[in-house]
Amino acid sequence: MRLNYVSRACMYQRLCTRFRTSNTRFINTYSTQFQIETICKTIRYSGPMSVAQYMRTVLTNSNTGYYIHKDMLGAEGDFVTSPELNQIFGELVGIWFVNEWKAMGCPSDIEFVELGPGKGTLANDVVRLFQHFRQKVFGQSKLSFRFVEVSETLSKLQYDVLCGKKLECEMPQDCYQAGYSKIGHFPMYWYRDLESVPNDKFTFFLAHEFFDALPIYKFVRGKNGWREIYVDVKSSSENELQFVLLPEVTMASKLIKSNETRNHVEICPMAGSIVSNIAKRIENNNGGALIIDYGHLGEKEDTLRGFKDHQLNDIFDNIGEADITADVDFQFICDSVKDSSVETTGPIIQQEFLKNMGIEVRLMMLLRNCKDKGQAQTLIDSYKIIMDEKQMGERFKVLALTGKRESSEEPVTGFYDS
Ligand code: SAH
Repeated sequence: MRLNYVSRACMYQRLCTRFRTSNTRFINTYSTQFQIETICKTIRYSGPMSVAQYMRTVLTNSNTGYYIHKDMLGAEGDFVTSPELNQIFGELVGIWFVNEWKAMGCPSDIEFVELGPGKGTLANDVVRLFQHFRQKVFGQSKLSFRFVEVSETLSKLQYDVLCGKKLECEMPQDCYQAGYSKIGHFPMYWYRDLESVPNDKFTFFLAHEFFDALPIYKFVRGKNGWREIYVDVKSSSENELQFVLLPEVTMASKLIKSNETRNHVEICPMAGSIVSNIAKRIENNNGGALIIDYGHLGEKEDTLRGFKDHQLNDIFDNIGEADITADVDFQFICDSVKDSSVETTGPIIQQEFLKNMGIEVRLMMLLRNCKDKGQAQTLIDSYKIIMDEKQMGERFKVLALTGKRESSEEPVTGFYDS
């Protein structure tokens, strides 16, 4: 039972291009001030930067990046996610992997890779579920967990939540932290990027609210074709930023599909390269992936927005202290794996997926075990937030990637009403 706060998917901000009305606000923290000055200086020396470069600098630069130094999740943070709200979410995700593992012939060595584990809550719920089924279902099978996490601050939090003691053996190459899980004593390893994670075993991948954090490029269609939106310093002020439209075509605009019908497009090449890497790994060693995020099927235009303290925040304000995010383009994700043999199923809306996975039955079970009315009410309230169409139920989508299954007749778990 978790907290009652607002998710990032529930609020929208129209992109402020250079046509927007002025929004001068004074920056009051040293680190934010320092960062805006550094970004403005960089731009004055080397010219305007792409929105992707701006996002990379603000979110993941190795000193002051938002994800690097901050715990942004929960009541005290900037936004809350489904697994932080309700334990059933992680349990049902765990059940999805158990079912798909069975459908793929119960291989004996299993790797579980989570991208962007946040506070480690989702992984912990999955671990608890796997431990519950360990004897009866997994038997002698070996299970290890690997996490892709760019933030040292968050990786320490994840370690505290998930692990008991330090791993006694040497750390594998490229791994920066390792331990055994408190529940079930599963080995756990942390990496900065997916490329560093070993690629030789049957693997399940999980990415929940990960792809929305990756840098996007932005383009608008003009009289002379596609032009890219960049970030520049305002001419009227030394330390204020604005969006500008580049007069010339950029290399990045090659990423836009020739039959694109929208007039404003956001493209995340990093999402494409990560998902095709995942597909290659599934092709080589078999396995599957669940990608859950707020997003669309290639129809939305301008979704870039910022968050701070559960409120929308202009992406040029509170640099390093506020989140910047964009909706995930699931069509682009599916297109990025279409040359592989990996099957994509979905995306379907989160509400449908959780319903198909049996959320109502699990809710009833948990309600029966609640100690008091308050606990039961928190459980019901958080269930509503993750299922309600107006909250997280519809905006969030679920996409599955699957490798070789024993029977091609058997539907992928959770995507069909049973
Ligand atoms: N999955 C969690 C947290 C989502 S927040 C949940 O649903 O609660 C996004 C997570 O991705 C954070 O852990 C953040 O540090 C991580 N992250 C963001 N950009 C990353 C990158 N480029 N590489 C690896 N991890 C990244």
